[in-house]
Amino acid sequence: MRFEYKSKLVKGITPYTAGEQLNDKKYVKLNTNENPYAPSEKVAEAIKNFDVDDLKLYPNANADTLRKAIATKENVEIENVFCGNGSDEVLALCYPAFFDKDGDGVCYGDISYSFYPVFADFFQIPKIEISVKDNFELDLDKMFSTKSQGVLIANPNAPTSIGIELEVLEKYIKANQNKIIIVDEAYMDFFKQSAVKLTKIYKNLLIVKTFSKSYSLAGIRCGYAIGDKELINALFCVKDCFNSYPIDRLCQKICSVAISDSEYYDKINNKIIKERERVSNELKNLDFIVLPSKANFIFAKSDKKSGRYIYESLKDKGVLVRHFNKAKISDYCRISIGTAEQNDILLKTLKEIL
Ligand code: PMP
Repeated sequence: MRFEYKSKLVKGITPYTAGEQLNDKKYVKLNTNENPYAPSEKVAEAIKNFDVDDLKLYPNANADTLRKAIATKENVEIENVFCGNGSDEVLALCYPAFFDKDGDGVCYGDISYSFYPVFADFFQIPKIEISVKDNFELDLDKMFSTKSQGVLIANPNAPTSIGIELEVLEKYIKANQNKIIIVDEAYMDFFKQSAVKLTKIYKNLLIVKTFSKSYSLAGIRCGYAIGDKELINALFCVKDCFNSYPIDRLCQKICSVAISDSEYYDKINNKIIKERERVSNELKNLDFIVLPSKANFIFAKSDKKSGRYIYESLKDKGVLVRHFNKAKISDYCRISIGTAEQNDILLKTLKEIL
């Protein structure tokens, strides 16, 4: 008899599928919402000057210097900051930190970041998925009226790109101080309505951010959370049951430098916002339905061809976008905003296909 080594959990779970990272040819890569611009020159300088001898030693376990730099930028105290290996890791750690297996569960939208249900399955936390409205907005009334231990909101949402205005969100946070509310602001620098300042008022609010998008550092893997000291301590507790040193020395250095160079990052991210408006309008001229984007990507559907056809035809012609074979959104493609040149290639190729 063959011995089965895998756990029941591993046998039963469907893991998250990351966007394709193909290298069979050179693509115009608009499928994983990376920033098309290089990291700041100060980051390049920091890497050049990095003393390789330092790698002999473990990094600071709590990433103190980086947390201080983040605290300065976000106008909070170091005790309000937690760092993880990508915001995916920070979000993952939130589940055992704030939810119980026998609790009322984690509530999120059915069209939202597709890692949310995977984390819930992995940590065996009950899931409460609330349908988005017909216009793809999150149904906050329903999400907050359902019994749950907490609510998880991506703002702007992915893959829909729709943003929730800060005043609207605050009403729900104020009225629901008996729940943990986690706002995933991975794309917030393209919307500029961050709820970080509300963490000083509402002890139940945790904001999660990343260096992967607006800081052009998807390759270095760093994300962070901001919230009341009690919430941050819960995250440290989980981290220290899992991995003492999630942020390596080079990462701590690079991200500290990056977050201190607002001038450069504001410049490139404003360019992306401008391009987002241009590409949205051009797609509408091609009879696409384009959801109102507040992120560095667009969620759009053609009235002529299926989402799968657009994705596959673009891929054949060397332009990579993301298609989700999922109910409600299979007609759509998610298209990251690239440089003006990359966006021109996308638009030209779409015209050829259509
Ligand atoms: N949240 C959302 C909504 C995302 O789209 C992503 C990127 N896939 C992440 C979090 C995770 O980003 P990272 O782990 O690179 O910080």
